Amino acid sequence: MQTYIDQVMTQANDAFQVYQFATGKEKKDFLYEIASEIEALGEVLLKTASEESNLPISRFIGESERTCRVFRMFGDLIEEGSWVEAVIDRHQENQSSESSDLRKMLVALGPIIVFGASNFPLAYSTPGGDTASALAAGCPVVVKGHQLHPKTSKLIARAMEKAIQKCNMPPHVFQLVEGDSFEIGKLLTQHPHTSGVGFTGSLVGGRAIYDYAQKRATPIPVFAEMGSVNPVILLENALKVSGTAWAKAFADSINMGVGQFCTRPGIQLAVKSEALDYYIAELSKFMAEKKNYNMLSEGIHQNYILKLKSALETKGIQTIFYRTGTESLSAELAIATTTGDIFLANPHLHEEVFGPFTLIIQCDNLEQLTQIWKQLKGQLSTTIIGTHEDLTTHKTMVDIARNIAGRIVFNATPTGVEVGHATVHGGPYPASTDSRFTSVGMDAIKRWARPVCFQNCPDELLPEALKADNPLNILRKVNGVYERI
Ligand code: NAP
Repeated sequence: MQTYIDQVMTQANDAFQVYQFATGKEKKDFLYEIASEIEALGEVLLKTASEESNLPISRFIGESERTCRVFRMFGDLIEEGSWVEAVIDRHQENQSSESSDLRKMLVALGPIIVFGASNFPLAYSTPGGDTASALAAGCPVVVKGHQLHPKTSKLIARAMEKAIQKCNMPPHVFQLVEGDSFEIGKLLTQHPHTSGVGFTGSLVGGRAIYDYAQKRATPIPVFAEMGSVNPVILLENALKVSGTAWAKAFADSINMGVGQFCTRPGIQLAVKSEALDYYIAELSKFMAEKKNYNMLSEGIHQNYILKLKSALETKGIQTIFYRTGTESLSAELAIATTTGDIFLANPHLHEEVFGPFTLIIQCDNLEQLTQIWKQLKGQLSTTIIGTHEDLTTHKTMVDIARNIAGRIVFNATPTGVEVGHATVHGGPYPASTDSRFTSVGMDAIKRWARPVCFQNCPDELLPEALKADNPLNILRKVNGVYERI
């Protein structure tokens, strides 16, 4: 195994020596070609992903479209070029002789290992945002293929090979490593040629990868995006005015992808009220209209049942709705409720239950709700549902939310993460191991780059981005003052 991983990483490192110098236009053409080759897989890809995940084909029409759009968005970003954050701090003739010509920009880190999640075989796996952003930055990618969708990964690897050949890129700029042993992930993470890791998956898996990396002789960044309970605050006026509408929206959100979304609302907090009682009854009604679909795999199903059972059997938990399915992989649909005291006394209730379940915490008063809100661990998202009056009265909740999560959602459900220039997907640990750089959205490219400063470098030796006549040089210093060129 070690010999094979050595060979893969040596190839990745050789590819890096060439690929890091590809121009923005060359990389853009490559990323666009990858998107076209994925699209060319058509029905075969959609059917394969569906068969391997138990999720419907319709789901993969959207996921595939999104994945290809992400590759093209990164293509556009790198062709435009300002992502390298070039800064020119020029030597001024009237300054002291020690004053230098300083120019900095972001450059590619090196070979990146990508681990994907079972629940998004296209958007967060072999061809997902980590792969697209690392290739955009100029880093070769080695994907550790997920055991639960090997055929999907192979199809994508073939599409990548075609794009590599068509665009005349180094042959090992993308590699897929397969196998069912965790040892593979450990060896890849600890290999001396590895410069960074992108992981999407469970807390247990992400933490294991992070810990492998801590044992390396040479430290590297590990960006692990893990599970989250995505707490929701339901404020009273909103429940009074639109209790039914929110109950319907949350029933949809809880069941999206059979509850197998990292952004699924796992806990909902509110102060006891009649409006809350009504909301809970309505939520049960809408949950009853949902079907019990099959989960991704036996392991994920077993894990869900174990955690669900542990939550529902906790003293002080009241099950409001529960329905089993007929097939061995059918997900149980469940809603439960409890008091603020019980929630505070049981840390296991604060953890992700990966499936169509939500726990509603009925707090005695606003003070208790605030106490719980403050104690929550790091989250991918938090959501606040309130009328304008609710939100302005409870501004403290928003102030606290900043310290909990990477994304604060107002009056919408947290499932579904848009890909954009201001997207943040990641949050304080245990949502992520490094919340400074998002896994979704254009800023993901910054995970795979580091700044380099060129001091007094002759103009002809400077990278294009740092040459004086490059219109993208965003700043220069004139007489001690920065100005835009
Ligand atoms: P997972 O079991 O952690 O697997 C993810 C990948 O990590 C797989 O390739 C797996 O290898 C590998 N892995 C896991 N444990 C490992 C270990 N100890 N050593 C080496 N490699 C290890 O996660 P999953 O079940 O696929 O995904 C579901 C989870 O992902 C949920 O918790 C969900 O919330 C989370 N998720 C998070 C996000 C996000 O953006 N934050 C997005 C989607 C999903 P094998 O292939 O060999 O099993």
